[in-house]
Amino acid sequence: MNSSPLSFHIHAQEGQARAGVLRTRRSVIETPVFMPVGTLGTVKGVRFEALESEELDARIILANTYHLWLRPGADVIRACGGLHRFESWGRSLLTDSGGFQVWSLGALRKITEAGVAFRSHIDGRACFLSPEVSMEVQAALGSDIVMMFDECAPGQADHETARTSMDLTLRWGSRSRARFDELQGGEQDSGRCAPTEGLSGAQALFGIVQGATHLDLRKESLARTVEIGFDGYALGGLSVGEEKRVMYDVIEEVAPMMPVERPRYLMGVGTPEDLLEGVARGIDMFDCVLPTRNARSGQVWTARGKLNIKNARFLIDTRPLDESCACSVCRRHTRAYLRHLYVTGEMLASILLTHHNLFYFLDIMRRARQAIALNEFHRFRHETLDMMSAGV
Ligand SMILES: [Zn+2]
Repeated sequence: MNSSPLSFHIHAQEGQARAGVLRTRRSVIETPVFMPVGTLGTVKGVRFEALESEELDARIILANTYHLWLRPGADVIRACGGLHRFESWGRSLLTDSGGFQVWSLGALRKITEAGVAFRSHIDGRACFLSPEVSMEVQAALGSDIVMMFDECAPGQADHETARTSMDLTLRWGSRSRARFDELQGGEQDSGRCAPTEGLSGAQALFGIVQGATHLDLRKESLARTVEIGFDGYALGGLSVGEEKRVMYDVIEEVAPMMPVERPRYLMGVGTPEDLLEGVARGIDMFDCVLPTRNARSGQVWTARGKLNIKNARFLIDTRPLDESCACSVCRRHTRAYLRHLYVTGEMLASILLTHHNLFYFLDIMRRARQAIALNEFHRFRHETLDMMSAGV
């Protein structure tokens, strides 16, 4: 019997683009996949019924270790039976390690070999996050995919800075692996559940490749991360200030060198264009706050590019947000109505715009998967990108 915490099978490939099936102990996930971000145990503005519906059908969502550790706290979630039970979500959960959040605190944090000391952004109390603490919190949350604790160098980091950061990340990767293995072998039962057939009830652990925009460092980071050994591999530290073309180049060079039989995850990226460019370069998993966060400021993605619903030109526009969109918001409501909700500050505006945006991101990946299976991804990508630049 296979005792792996997840299985991954590629069933179609076109160029570097791959279509596959990832099975965790809780759900079957078709890849390439977009994972909605549920930072504080909620994908903001979306009910879980909607995420599970045939329309959105999100098979895996994210949660954020840093935020949930601060509030309500790992002990609270453990006492409530783990994050799946706490938020009542039966499908897969991926938790990030908190590394990126503490890195983002800038002057509020101090990084040492042991970990990161920082002040809580909520009440200013002193906190300390390390590879060991991150693994312990993620075990208490009981997510299906756990991320190793890493340090992120800025996008424009010079070679020396990027190397120092990468070396630290590798040492933290080994410590993450060691503590994770101890926890999986111990009394950690908050995340246990009846496993999917052929899979163990354990959590899976993903490694993170760093090295900023320096290809030699990226390749070294990848080789040494694979040496430690993980269930999947992520590219971290991209879309953090470097030029887009540079990011695509790094993905193009590094992704094909990542283990073929393991899922490849591009963390925190990106726009619909980035998703298609990432898929074309061999990425299987994506997450990003854009569709949910930007919906709350009125920004909407359509097949013909972005629009902002607060724009006066939509005052009496009786068309849907996106005339080619099949989502329930576009089938029912006009731009004029959605604009009215937005400018009057009605909460329904955020809910409806988020729903449409999430549908758009999930649907573009659904169509990418179909295109790869039909060996039409190259054409699909170019037609979709051309249409996006046409303008609303
Ligand atoms: Zn729509």
